[in-house]
Amino acid sequence: MKNYLYLLLPILFIAAACSKPNLNSAVPNQPPAFSAIKENELRQDLFALAGDSMRGKRAGTNDELRAAAWVAEKARAAGLEPAGEDGTYFQFFPLRRARVGDNAKLLINNKPVALWQDAWVTAPVEGKVAGSVVWLKSLADTTGKNLKNKVIAMTLRPPTPLPVKGMSLWGYRYILAAIRQQSNMLRNQGAAAIILVSDSIAEANLAFAGHGFEEGTYQLPGTPGTTNRITIPVILVRKTYAGILQNTQTQVNADISLENFIYPSINVVARAVGSDPALRQEHVLFSGHHDHDGVGVPIAGDSIWNGADDNATVSVALLAIGRAWKNNPGKRSALFVWHGAEERGLWGSRWFAEHPTVKKESIVAVLNGDMIGRNAPDSAALLGSIPPHRNSTALVDMALQANKQFTHFTIDTSWDEQQHPEGWYFRSDHLPYARAGIPAIFFTTLLHSDYHTPRDEPQRIDYAKLTRMTRWMYATGWTISNTVQRPTIDPGFKLER
Ligand SMILES: [Zn+2]
Repeated sequence: MKNYLYLLLPILFIAAACSKPNLNSAVPNQPPAFSAIKENELRQDLFALAGDSMRGKRAGTNDELRAAAWVAEKARAAGLEPAGEDGTYFQFFPLRRARVGDNAKLLINNKPVALWQDAWVTAPVEGKVAGSVVWLKSLADTTGKNLKNKVIAMTLRPPTPLPVKGMSLWGYRYILAAIRQQSNMLRNQGAAAIILVSDSIAEANLAFAGHGFEEGTYQLPGTPGTTNRITIPVILVRKTYAGILQNTQTQVNADISLENFIYPSINVVARAVGSDPALRQEHVLFSGHHDHDGVGVPIAGDSIWNGADDNATVSVALLAIGRAWKNNPGKRSALFVWHGAEERGLWGSRWFAEHPTVKKESIVAVLNGDMIGRNAPDSAALLGSIPPHRNSTALVDMALQANKQFTHFTIDTSWDEQQHPEGWYFRSDHLPYARAGIPAIFFTTLLHSDYHTPRDEPQRIDYAKLTRMTRWMYATGWTISNTVQRPTIDPGFKLER
């Protein structure tokens, strides 16, 4: 069915072009070069970039640098020109990692508790705390209790709403959401430190969540972020500590120091020049990320988070679109940015949006993709396509029209709704561009049960679907590249969560 469809695509396009008068003089007669986007090349590239030898490409490690060099070499082979800094394919940026120092201590009744085995400092924060514990039976159990500057302990409560069921890492998301909600409420009571005792769901998911806490947080240096907001230690302990913490005589001593490291991370930037001398200084920006989660706690014996769908799919899609653009350039130029450190907090895209290597005004639209090779063959989503996330109706219309004309996906809009519990719109690299006032959309085939696990591997990708999604992104960019009127920002657009 799908192969049959693709054979028909150029014919359908020509038929459509011939059947009605061409009202837009800027649309060229040549159809886009769909045949240059080849399923076998996408597969081959993806097995290389998401293979175990790339070790999961974690930001700030040699593995990310190696993946970036691989992407740049493939971009060169595709005939794309370097568009990073100083005539290279690269734009380096600093990443600051903060983690709890090795000499941090937690004592309960003067007995040391093993950090990262029985207790986890859930965000890197410096602090010394000593005192007796105030145990709360519930969040309402504060009447008549002075909590100011006290060590407050209680059992972890389920978050509201609960994370969406059926997705991978459900327990991990449960822990994060529960800690965030509960510690915010207790912090507002003036606590000096918070100790949360695992409930049974947290207890069953401590290995993976704990690894993340131990790794710490990543930021651009000087960027206000999470570590500045979290002002007191929030410590998660195993269930077995519930008994001792309920005793009002129990004493807690914590001495937590921080360690900071500056790591290099890296964006890869390449360009395919447009065919129109008057328009080629303008850019359609195709965006993805080349990093993933690296090597971590083994799950079912596999310790490599390959990131095949997330986001090697889009990394190789951009290479294929580059080859198609070279084969048959659009009028405007295509700019390709493979961002680094997306998984650590969208830092590469934030850096590029703040330090673009082309004039910011020359970026007519950002077509970002993240995870485009899984789930039902005909389903896809376009985030930023309905209010309040939509910042350019003109851009969204072009993407939907390209799908209607060429790729025929059934579009799922539910994940773009403001009330969707996953907040998916806010979780990929288009976001800093939308914030910077550039028309931006996000192509995806959404979450699945292997998301952020070592099972996100090349053999689980639907390559026919990946080919079709790549063609949708390409056809959208091609349309934008050739229209007279570049897409405009909707009046009154405001990005709010
Ligand atoms: Zn991801």
